[in-house]
Amino acid sequence: ETGNAFDYAQLGQGDDHLHGSGTSFRRVISLAWPERYLLTIALMCLLVSSASTMVVPALFSKLIEQILDTQTEDKLDQTVLLMLVVFTVSSVFTTFRGALFNMSGERLVARFRVRVFEAILRQPISFFDEENSGELQSRLSSDTRVIQDTVTSTVSMSLRWLAQVVVGLVILFVLSWKLTLIMLSVVPALAIGARMYGSFIRGVSKQYQDSLGSAGEAAEQAISSIRTVRSFSKESYEVARYRARIKDSYTYGIKKSWAYGIFIGIIGLGAYYAVALVLWYGGRQVIRHESGLTAASLLSFLIYTIYLAGALGGLSGLYSQLMAAVGSSDRMFAIIDRKPEIHTDRTPNSEEDGFVPLPGETIVDSDAAIRRSADFNDELRGNVVFHNVSFAYPSRKDIKVLRDVSFTCQQGQVTALVGASGGGKSTIINLLQRFYDPDSGHITIAGQDLRHMSTVKLHRNVGTVSQQPTLFAMSIRDNITYGVHRKVSEDEIVHAAKEANAYNFISGFPDGLDTQVGERGVTLSGGQNQRIAIARALLARPNVILLDEATSALDAESEHLVQEALDRVMVGRTSITIAHRLSTIRSAAMILVISDGVIAERGTHEELSRKDNGLYATLVQRQMQA
Ligand code: ADP
Repeated sequence: ETGNAFDYAQLGQGDDHLHGSGTSFRRVISLAWPERYLLTIALMCLLVSSASTMVVPALFSKLIEQILDTQTEDKLDQTVLLMLVVFTVSSVFTTFRGALFNMSGERLVARFRVRVFEAILRQPISFFDEENSGELQSRLSSDTRVIQDTVTSTVSMSLRWLAQVVVGLVILFVLSWKLTLIMLSVVPALAIGARMYGSFIRGVSKQYQDSLGSAGEAAEQAISSIRTVRSFSKESYEVARYRARIKDSYTYGIKKSWAYGIFIGIIGLGAYYAVALVLWYGGRQVIRHESGLTAASLLSFLIYTIYLAGALGGLSGLYSQLMAAVGSSDRMFAIIDRKPEIHTDRTPNSEEDGFVPLPGETIVDSDAAIRRSADFNDELRGNVVFHNVSFAYPSRKDIKVLRDVSFTCQQGQVTALVGASGGGKSTIINLLQRFYDPDSGHITIAGQDLRHMSTVKLHRNVGTVSQQPTLFAMSIRDNITYGVHRKVSEDEIVHAAKEANAYNFISGFPDGLDTQVGERGVTLSGGQNQRIAIARALLARPNVILLDEATSALDAESEHLVQEALDRVMVGRTSITIAHRLSTIRSAAMILVISDGVIAERGTHEELSRKDNGLYATLVQRQMQA
C-alpha cells in the first residue's frame, strides 16, 4: 500500500479541481502518510518528553517549599533525585523525538524529490522549450528542502508547543484561574501580530524562492557553457548577472529577517508583559494572603507562564513557516499536477534499471510489464507516412513550420531530406520521435498512428543519430547499451561497436568498453562521439532510423569512418536522413526538398536533376561547385 501507486493517489495527481493553499497544506501532510508508524513513535516520545518537562516547575516549587520550611535534608535529596530522573527521561525521549522526526523528514523529502524529478521527465519537449533547466533544478533542491523542514521540524514542534499550551493552561487554571485570565489578556494582541506576520512571510518567501530560482538559472547557464564564456572573456559579466539576481533574493532575505526580528521581539515583549502582570497581581495576592497563593506556588505559576508564552510564541512562529512551505509546495505540486500533453510511459521502476527503492517505496516493475507485453515486442515494419501534417512549435504558435506535408517513406528504403536551413527538416525528425504532436494531420508507421502507441514501443522501433549526439558521463559500455530495454551480451556490444567503426578506438583505451566518458573520464572527439552514438542506435535494432548527416565538423578521416558506419546503419532499414552528402542523396529511393515548411519537390536524383531551374538542380549544382 505504501508503493508508488498509493503515493500517486495521495498526491491527487491529475485532479484539476485541486487548488489553493488549504489543499497544498493537506497534500504536504499527506506526503507524510508512509511515515505514519515512525511519526507515531516519534509523537509518543514527544508526549513523554513534553510531559516530563511539564513536571519540572511543580518540582521546583516543591523544592523551594522544602528549602523555605527548613525540613529534613532527606526530603530535599529525594526531590533532587526525582528531578534528575525526570531530566534524564526527558532527555532520552527528546533524543528519539528529534532523531525520528528528522529521519522521517529525510525519507519523505527523498521520495518527494524523486517524485518531482519523475514528473519533470514526464513532461513533453515543449515544456523544456519554455522552462529553464537551472530553475527546475533549483526547485528540486530548495523548494523540496522547505517542505522537508515543514513536515519534520514544523509538525513536530507544533505538536510539542500545542501539548505544552494545553497542559500548561490546565495547570495554570488549577493553580489560579484568576491569575490565568489576567495573564491571558496579552494573547489576542499576539495572535493578531502572528497572523499579520504569517501572511507577510508567505508572500516574501515565495518571492525569495523565485529569485533563488532565477539565480540558479543564471549560474547553471554560465557553468554549462563555460567554454563559450571563457572564449569571450565574459566571466565578470556572468558574475554580475548572477550577483544581480542574488541581490534580489538578498533583498527579500532582508525583508524576511526584519519581519522575523520584529516578530520575535513582539512575542518576547508579550511574554514579559504577561510575566509582569502575573508578578504584580500574584504578588499582591501573596502579600495579602488571598486565595491561598504562596510565594512558592507563585513561582511555579510564573515558570508555567514562561513555558506557555514560549510555546505560544513558538506556535505562531511555526505558523509562518507553514505558510512559507505552502508557498513552495504550490510550485512543486504545479509540476506534479501538470498533465503532459503527450503521454510518456510511466518511468519504469525495475531492478534491471538499477531501481533502488527508497524507504517507504516498493518496486513497481512497470517496465517489465511493458517488456512482456505484446505491444512492446511488436515490430513496426512498414512505411512511414506523413498525412497532411501541419505544425507550429508550442512556444511560437504563430509560425507554421510545416504546412500540409504529406509523404511516404517506403519500408527498407532511404528517404533523403534536403533543402535550405530553417526549412523544417529537423522538425520532421522531431515529429517522428514524437517530441511534439502535429497540430493537424497525423503520422503513421506501419499503419499505426504515433499517438496511439506507447512511447517505449515507438522509441524501441525508431532509432536516432543526431548531429551532436549526447553521451552521458558513464562508461562507453553503458552509453552503448543506453537505448536497449533488454539484457545484451558482450558479443552484441562488441558487434555494434565494430559496425559503427568505433571498436578500434575503444579497444585502444586501457579500460576498453569500461572507459568513463565525460567530466571524470575521456573527452571524445566529435567523430568518436558520433560513432558511439551510432553503436548505441544499432544495438537497439530499430526498424526505422532517423539520421542527421552533418559531418562538416569532422576531419576527413573521421568523416569517412562515420559515413561508412552510417551507410551500414541504413542498410535494410527505413531511413529518413537529413542528407548532406551527394552519395547519400544520389542513392536515396526518394528525395524530399523541404522549403519553407512545404515539400517543394520530390523524386529521385535523376528525376529532380532533370528539372531546369528546379530547387534541387540548383542545390546540387552549388554542391558540385563547393
Ligand atoms: P531545418 O532542419 O530545415 O534547418 P528546422 O526544422 O530546424 O529547419 O526549423 C524550422 C523552423 O522552426 C525554423 O524557423 C526554426 O526557427 C523553427 N524552430 C526550430 N526548433 C524550434 C523550437 N524548439 N521552438 C520554436 N521554433 C523552432
